[in-house]
This record gives sequence, C-alpha cells and structure tokens, in this order.
Amino acid sequence: MSQNLYAQFEERFPHDDGAPAMALPDGRIVPYGELKVQSARYANLLVSLGAKPGDRIAAQVEKSPCAVFLYLGALRAGCVFLPMNPAYQSGELAHLLGDARPHVFVVRPQAAAQGRELAAQAAVPHVLELSDDGEGELAVAAAQHAPRFATISRSADDLAAILYTSGTTGRAKGAMLTHRNLGIGVSTLHKFWGFKPGDVLLHILPIYHFHGLFVTLHCALWNGSAMWFEPKFDAKRAVALLPRSTVCMGVPTHYVRMLAEPGLNPEACREMRLFISGSAPLLPDIFNAFRERTGHTILERYGMTEGGMFASNPYGGERRCGTVGQALPGVSLRVMNGEGQAAAPGVTGQIEVKGDNVFAGYWRLPEKTAEEHTADGYFKTGDLGQLSKNGYLTIVGRDKDLIISGGLNIYPKEIEEVIDALAGVRESAVIGLKHPDFGEAVAAIVVREAAAVSQPQAEEVVQAVKSRLASFKVPKSVYFVDDLPRNAMGKVQKNLLRERFA
Ligand code: AMP
Repeated sequence: MSQNLYAQFEERFPHDDGAPAMALPDGRIVPYGELKVQSARYANLLVSLGAKPGDRIAAQVEKSPCAVFLYLGALRAGCVFLPMNPAYQSGELAHLLGDARPHVFVVRPQAAAQGRELAAQAAVPHVLELSDDGEGELAVAAAQHAPRFATISRSADDLAAILYTSGTTGRAKGAMLTHRNLGIGVSTLHKFWGFKPGDVLLHILPIYHFHGLFVTLHCALWNGSAMWFEPKFDAKRAVALLPRSTVCMGVPTHYVRMLAEPGLNPEACREMRLFISGSAPLLPDIFNAFRERTGHTILERYGMTEGGMFASNPYGGERRCGTVGQALPGVSLRVMNGEGQAAAPGVTGQIEVKGDNVFAGYWRLPEKTAEEHTADGYFKTGDLGQLSKNGYLTIVGRDKDLIISGGLNIYPKEIEEVIDALAGVRESAVIGLKHPDFGEAVAAIVVREAAAVSQPQAEEVVQAVKSRLASFKVPKSVYFVDDLPRNAMGKVQKNLLRERFA
C-alpha cells in the first residue's frame, strides 16, 4: 500500500469538499476541495517540467495558500519538498542549491534575478516565480494543468522532505525526512494533543520550518480542520482570532507579544482548549503570567528539525513549568553522562532519541550522520538536559553553549535563572568568552525592564550569582543590552552575542 503522506492526509480530509481548510486575512476561504484540486494542478505542473519521484522541489517563498499547494503537489508527484527561509542570502542559497540540486526552484519575484543566477550555477533546470500574495508565474502555470492527479505511490522509507538546519556553526545540513517520519510524527501528536472534530487552528508560524509546516499545518490537515492562516504574526490580530479558535501553536515570543495585548483575557480564550509552545525555552514568568491572565496553562514541548517532536507535557496531566514533559509515545529518550551511561535523575547530560519519527540522516553526509548517532541507533540531539524521577525533561541548553572555565563545566541556564529572578531584569543570556587563564570566562548579557523603578547594576548581578552559586560560575563581565538577538523561531542567537562581545 502506498505510504505517500499526501494520500494519508487526503483519506482524512472532510467528506464535504466545501469544508474550510484555510481562512485568510482578506476573508478568502480555501476549502478542502480546493486543496485537492490545486495540489493536483501543481503535481501535474511538476511532472510536466520533468520532475520525477525523488527529485527535490525547492521553494524560497512567503507563507501563502500557493506555497501549501506546491508542497502538497510535490508530495503527490513523489518529489522531495525543500522549503527555504526567505531570509537566506546568496551565500546560504548557493550552498543549499548546490548541495540539494533541486529540479525546480521557486523564488519570490524580488529575489528572482539572483535566484536565477544561483540556480544556473547549480545547474537547476527550472526556476519559477511566486509572489508574496501567492500570484505569479507558478500560479499561472499551475492553473493550466488538469485538476486531477493520481498520487504517486511511495514507500515509507522514501523521502518526503529535506529541511536544512540553521546550524549556528559550520554549513547548513539537510535533514532527510521520510513519509514514515512525518506520518508517524503527525499521527502521534494528533492523538497526544487530543485533536477532535471541530477544532480550529490558529496558524501564526512560518511554514519554512518544522514547527509551522510539519507540526502545525500537518495536525490541521490530519484532523481535517480549518485554520486561520496568518501570513505574518500580528499579536493584536491573533488575540482577536482567539474567540474563534480552539488550538494555537506558537514560539515563546508569540506568547510574550500576546501578553502585551490588553485584549488577552479569559473571555477572548473562551473557545480555546490548547496553547502549545516550543522551538525555544518558555520562561517561567511567561508561563505563569499567561496562566494568570487567561486561565490556560501553556503546554510546552520539545523537538528539532532532525525528526520533529520528542517530548511533550501531557494534554490531560500535569504541565510542569520549566520542563518539556515526558518522551512522546513511540520515542525512546535518554539522558547520557560523559561515560556513556544513563545519567541519574536530576543530573545533566546529553539528550539522545530514537523512534520512527527521527530523521533518516543528513543529505549526502553519511559520515556526519554516523557521527551523530550512537552504536545502538540513538540520535545525539546536541541538547543538554535532566530527567526527573518520573521522566519530565528539563532542557539545560545546547552542548555547544556549554561553558568550560578552568576545566569546569558551566551550564548557562543555571546562571540565567538567577539573573532573571532579580528585580528589574527582563531576561538574560550567559555565554563563554575566550579568557587567557580560564580558557573561557562567564559573561552575562542582561536586558533590564525599561520601566523598572531601580535598574540593577553590574555589581548587583554579580552579587546575586555569588550568593547562590559556586564562585567559578560568577560572571567575570556583565553587559546591558536593549534586546537579545533572536531568530524567527524565537531562539536567542548566542553565536551573535559571542561575536559581539568577543
Ligand atoms: P530547530 O531544529 O530549529 O527546530 O531547533 C531545535 C532546537 O531548539 C532543539 O535542539 C533545542 O535546542 C531547541 N528547542 C526546541 N524546543 C525547545 C523547548 N521547548 N525548550 C528549549 N529548547 C527548545
């Protein structure tokens, strides 16, 4: 039987072709019937361009219904979808195109000249334009193709997508995701998070990333749900849409911004059954403030491009602040100490995972793939964490963020928590800076509350850490900034801080 992910979605689509799939800010509704027809047209277009099963279809476009039609069309044609962050510049694009060698590259008109040049260098046969509002060459070409397409059979191990991971060091690597990885991933989340008929999803994430594409969009399609399909996140609009939504998935920044909206209250959330956060740590202050304001406890989960979701707080049970919950069904998750043994509860170690949702390896990098796996088949996530006695996982940071000062391991999060608790501090990032004696020295980058009555000075930050933690963890330097640099998924870009304060 075909394991094509699209076929699995289509089986679950509502029987009524008129049932809404996407509702757009301009009032336009894309019904499920149109998803079927348009994805067929796009699949026919790709085949007419000579795309064969296994060929990559790359897209550097904004979030629009056409981007979704293209993705589904690529799946139907048996191709491998390769979404790219619109923020990628020519160096990054050249690497991705040269590495993935797509058959088709879809670009925004404003980046088309550069896109065509880079595509020519990488011998990409076809370049088509799609504008931010979903118009242009690609949409026009697709409209000329037939509205029916027999979805091409795929086996579970065939690739459905390649997502390049941001990789703060070195070159981006393509994480290969199979139809099995994505199918198991979405069916697990759908069940675990209690999706039910009538759910309406508030879709505020970009769709070039795992979170927006393979968690949020997939859950809605698997459930045959309607989505508020927001091309860009706007906190005021998001809060205005809450009374007509039941599930929202976001990154912590979204929740911070929603909290700044006076309209966020229990009445606005009366239809909501679930708020989910992930991709970056949800600070306890935000978790608590959101609960106080709305009566809802945000469910935090943990995952990454290399396979999706690994752990989640429960839908029914206790959602524990500061943790990402327990391993999801079907995922085997362990925390290992430096000696290759399971770390005791409460002890920090490397997080490793195994499961059918975990990716099939890095594209054209078998050695790197082998390096990142253990002999017994676990993927080394590169994240550091601790498990509680009953299996709740706390993320402590990335192992590359680990600071080694005078030969001692220092986990930034422990220090950040002390600094964040100081009155007048909004948030902080602790990094290691090169030091002639210690190898690395602890530096604290602190954002103060603009409206604080008295703003803490460097000496108070140092004293606070000194009074609570071992002396080798005390920052040697403290810098104040207005904001921490974050990427679109809300992750603090510590690499930029390390460069800036080097
Ligand atoms: P990406 O591959 O871009 O999705 O990034 C994955 C990384 O984001 C993980 O390896 C973690 O370091 C981080 N991450 C994801 N979810 C969380 C979370 N809930 N709390 C803390 N870090 C997270």
